[in-house]
Amino acid sequence: MRYLIIGNGAAGVTAAETIRQYDPVGEVVIVSAEKTPMYSRPGLAYVLTGDIPPQQVVARTEHWYTDQRLKLVYGKAAALDTSNRLVALNGGQTLPYDRLLIATGAAAVPAPYPGGDLDGVVFLDSLEGVRHLLKKVRRARRAVVIGGGITALEMVEGLARRGVETHYFVRRDRLWSKVFNQSEGALLEQQMRHHGIHIHYHTEAVEILGNRRNKVTGVRLKNGNTFACDLFGVAIGVRPQLDLVRGTDILTDRAILVDEYLESNVTGVFAAGDCAQVYDRWSGKHLADSLWPSAVATGRAAALNMVGKRTVYDKGTPFNVCMLFGLHVTAIGQINPDPRDEDGMEQAHNLSRGSSEVWFTFPRTYNSAWSDKGDSSLRLVLDNTKLVGALIIGEQSAADPLRKLIEHGADAAPLLPYIDDRAELLHRITLLAQAQEVAAL
Ligand SMILES: Cc1cc2nc3c(=O)[nH]c(=O)nc-3n(C[C@H](O)[C@H](O)[C@H](O)COP(=O)(O)OP(=O)(O)OC[C@H]3O[C@@H](n4cnc5c(N)ncnc54)[C@H](O)[C@@H]3O)c2cc1C
Repeated sequence: MRYLIIGNGAAGVTAAETIRQYDPVGEVVIVSAEKTPMYSRPGLAYVLTGDIPPQQVVARTEHWYTDQRLKLVYGKAAALDTSNRLVALNGGQTLPYDRLLIATGAAAVPAPYPGGDLDGVVFLDSLEGVRHLLKKVRRARRAVVIGGGITALEMVEGLARRGVETHYFVRRDRLWSKVFNQSEGALLEQQMRHHGIHIHYHTEAVEILGNRRNKVTGVRLKNGNTFACDLFGVAIGVRPQLDLVRGTDILTDRAILVDEYLESNVTGVFAAGDCAQVYDRWSGKHLADSLWPSAVATGRAAALNMVGKRTVYDKGTPFNVCMLFGLHVTAIGQINPDPRDEDGMEQAHNLSRGSSEVWFTFPRTYNSAWSDKGDSSLRLVLDNTKLVGALIIGEQSAADPLRKLIEHGADAAPLLPYIDDRAELLHRITLLAQAQEVAAL
């Protein structure tokens, strides 16, 4: 059997490892557009802050591929012929397959206005991009960052930690408005200001300005003013990399549509990770994620099906933990702020890295119970009284039990009387999760 995997990220490499586990003799070829063994993309944020050196995110050596008898080919897959089961690379090489996995991930969306190609426009998206960004940071004095999600916030934090005067432009009046409610946004704002970040609400750039040497010198704002800077960070979301399937008979929506076996409408062609749109039992829709654990899980499930071990992929509850300006933030399940609260909602059209479209679906009946204390806050998202999501900032002891309760769609009614008594609430959450586990035995 010839297995061909396009993409050398979390999904592609997990799939290759899994195939090798179940098929010791099949030929496994991985095509990688980036000239590096697999690395941790979330780790890039810590490279920017200086917490780890760039080489530490590289998670595999080239020897590892050889030891596993996986053939790693550096090149870009440029054309797919599903009738003859062939993939052509940019350099002209043609690779045949019996089973194909498309695991091409997603790429950062460029700046949506003139000036996007100037020297000094930077992204936090790839290892090469971060190396470039680190070079720029050495000479930069003042940066502007745009974008409403985790990556933008991580870029803001990283630039500030590198000693660059950092300005964060926010279109509306709330930070991370697709995820945070007003009070949660205020908590993060307090922390960001403490770290010396300049936050500009109701501020939108419309053009990036440059000098004769094509270097960024500032931005023009929607109100007509200009703002000087020498770095312009863009983190307005990602788009699944679908070039390879364009013009083929493979069905796509926002990403490649796959069934519960991770197979596309074309027999023998599978997709996993950020480039796949997978059935979600919560919403009954096909949704995309840009989450590392989802890429690993779909890569593994796709591989099992590719080797003939028929396995239904059950998209679990999306879960993400990140650290922003010293605050732990955990998101589980459906976490959009209240749908009636349209005012502060930023209209982001692209999914941002480290998030799931599930976050942005609303339960049929939206209710929330919310408590805060000092620099911690806890929001329970409910469908009537059924627990469907939680957003936890700061103190994290409730994260694991809440994840279990949400996974089981537990009834949160027994928790609600304690919402204002933090200690008792945490205790009750633990008890309820334990009861849930016992009941599941
Ligand atoms: C700064 C940052 C922070 C993040 N934070 C988090 C987080 O907190 N939590 C979390 O869960 N996730 C986070 N993520 C997202 C997570 O990294 C991705 O969801 C995950 O890497 C997706 O894996 P993948 O294998 O689908 O795609 P990728 O890792 O993108 O790998 C796809 C690979 O395919 C290659 N490729 C594309 N097209 C072709 C082609 N035509 N031919 C050959 N190769 C091709 C690409 O170059 C790439 O190497 C973050 C990502 C970034 C960048």
